[in-house]
Amino acid sequence: MTTELQELFERNRRWAAETESREPGFFSRLLKQQTPQYLWIGCADSRVPANELVDLLPGELFVHRNIANVVVPTDLNALSVIQYAIDALRVTHVIVVGHSNCGGVKAALNNLRVGLVDNWLRHVQDVRDTHQDFLDSLPAERRVDALCELNVLEQARNVCRTTIVTDAWQRGQEVVVHGWVYGLHNGLLEDLRVTVAHAEDIGPAYATALAALKQRYSASVAALTEPIGAPD
Ligand SMILES: [Zn+2]
Repeated sequence: MTTELQELFERNRRWAAETESREPGFFSRLLKQQTPQYLWIGCADSRVPANELVDLLPGELFVHRNIANVVVPTDLNALSVIQYAIDALRVTHVIVVGHSNCGGVKAALNNLRVGLVDNWLRHVQDVRDTHQDFLDSLPAERRVDALCELNVLEQARNVCRTTIVTDAWQRGQEVVVHGWVYGLHNGLLEDLRVTVAHAEDIGPAYATALAALKQRYSASVAALTEPIGAPD
């Protein structure tokens, strides 16, 4: 085995020993059950490690990640994770987490050809096409982050529309869907407030979050273009 990989095993042994000494019996308790309250649906980007950035231990966060945190109703993988999380683990919160400067979103925005993944990113291009006029109204350097956030709103809405979530709501199970964005530049999460706890809230929550997003971007662009040092 290469030295780099041996290093991973050594780090793993150290981490396990430290965790066990900090919380004796930690692993034997986890062996019996996992009871996470949250399902995290995030980007596969190595700079957005789910557990670490919310400081949660193993057993506390159920995680699904793919390129550009996309949720489509034909993706058996994502649907299986959502179904198991809601029906078996009974998580309360399903959180779609995008991040600023996402490479997948950037490729989708600019029609970059990367390979097979272009087909996957077609879903993000659908989001781009839906909001093309708004994106065109922004300076080029703001468009990637705007599309990252628009993509979160769309994917959160897609989660709400899955049969798994609608069935859970139908039978009265508490499930709340959220959309957040993570800032690569400052390590902070921001709630995009597309928070949905009932089927009838999907439309209003999406519309309110979308209006707030557009307002925020338009205001920041207006602030940038205001003349500096104008007379009082
Ligand atoms: Zn990404």
